[in-house]
Amino acid sequence: MIKLNDIKAYCLRHQIRLTPLRLKVIAALITQNQPISAYDLLAILKKDKPEIKIMSVYRVLDFLQSHHIAHKIDATHTYSLCCHPSDQLCQLFICQSCGRKFETHAQSVYESISKLADDKKFIIKQSKIELIGLCHLCVGVID
Ligand SMILES: [Zn+2]
Ligand SMILES: [Zn+2]
Repeated sequence: MIKLNDIKAYCLRHQIRLTPLRLKVIAALITQNQPISAYDLLAILKKDKPEIKIMSVYRVLDFLQSHHIAHKIDATHTYSLCCHPSDQLCQLFICQSCGRKFETHAQSVYESISKLADDKKFIIKQSKIELIGLCHLCVGVID
């Protein structure tokens, strides 16, 4: 789990400006133990800021993704914070039962993929990998 201070330090290092709304989104995501949808995030933010609109939430999420602070999980249409933003080479393991996300940042995986891309003369712009399955908490509970 990433801490708010780690994200702040990362942003400071990379000159990423954290507006009050961006900070609120990060703070809301940090309290979740699993990825949540933009609408669930909106519901959390509305408690403090009833006038907030879904478009503003999406704008912040896009911004956070473009700076490697948050991930969009395509398989479940949910969002969560990257647990290691400075790595940028994330392998996301998504549990199809409970929705939890586990991240690894294996350099060896990235190197293999880079080599494949080089062979194809392909330029990688985004190297997030999603793997779908059952987490250690759900395996055994469900067959
Ligand atoms: Zn990540
Ligand atoms: Zn699970």
